[in-house]
Amino acid sequence: MSCSLAEAPAPARVPISSGRAYRATPLPPGAFVTPTLADELARVLERFAVEASFTADRPVEILFKPGVVGHHQVGRAADIYAVGGRGLDAWKADWDAAATRGAVTDERQRNLGWRLYKAIQTYGRWSQPQGYPIQIFGPWTRSEGPWRRISDALLFAHRDHIHIAK
Ligand SMILES: [Zn+2]
Repeated sequence: MSCSLAEAPAPARVPISSGRAYRATPLPPGAFVTPTLADELARVLERFAVEASFTADRPVEILFKPGVVGHHQVGRAADIYAVGGRGLDAWKADWDAAATRGAVTDERQRNLGWRLYKAIQTYGRWSQPQGYPIQIFGPWTRSEGPWRRISDALLFAHRDHIHIAK
């Protein structure tokens, strides 16, 4: 008799940890993620926080909320809704207002939502299932990539959070 793969135990799920320069909102056990995703998030978020001048004495808050569908069901995805006490939709509104007045250069420094998105996009190695785009979607996906052809519906669904999967 051989062992069936179907009987293999599901991989352990772990919380998304806080780092030295950032604090991640604790999620309920039902929203725990794979160790692979947790490690990638820890690496990328710490780098973001340090580059944005946060420290162990003054860490930045990063608000996660549980997701429901797709990669979330197997612990391979995470959703970030706020950074530095401000929602990503509010950061995006700031960004758009700055762009309208031609002040994007300053906004790149001060806008933590945009900085977080770019750090996640630049430093993270995210899932890309065959035939699908890289699994990072958020308010800046159409302007910053990687999947600039994101549909209106998918962009709207991610107007207030960043979704990443690994
Ligand atoms: Zn999600």
